[in-house]
Amino acid sequence: MKASGLAGAVFLVYYQIVHSVFDAFCPMLVLTGIPCAGCGLTRAALYLLRGKGVRAAHINPSIFLILFFLLYCGYYRYMKGEKVKRFGLALGILVAGMLAVYGCGMYRYFPDRAPYVYQGNNAAARWVPGYEQWMRGVLAAVRGARGG
Ligand SMILES: [Zn+2]
Repeated sequence: MKASGLAGAVFLVYYQIVHSVFDAFCPMLVLTGIPCAGCGLTRAALYLLRGKGVRAAHINPSIFLILFFLLYCGYYRYMKGEKVKRFGLALGILVAGMLAVYGCGMYRYFPDRAPYVYQGNNAAARWVPGYEQWMRGVLAAVRGARGG
């Protein structure tokens, strides 16, 4: 079996297990119940492909940072036919931007608005003693601080 075939098989097994047990795909969501900076990007990309930019921005605005990054890299790679200039800097800006978007989203919406929701069905809640109790306190504190 080639490495790519093996990776594909591992991916499929992972996908089947986490979907059947946790009804989620993101590793961070599956492990902790807390969404990551990439959560909602697939949905956002699908909205964007159908021309629904506002919906895409509502789900995860980072999709536009990724789009700019891809256009930037694509410009050098395919239009100019050369190596991407300042690739590390561009990647750094992308990651920093995504973390900023994530921070703002978590601050404003966690745990009540998708994709910044707490997934109660997660590995830590199942298998780490006290985690669910602790998390319930965190969620109550967040909601209380927001005055909701
Ligand atoms: Zn995620």
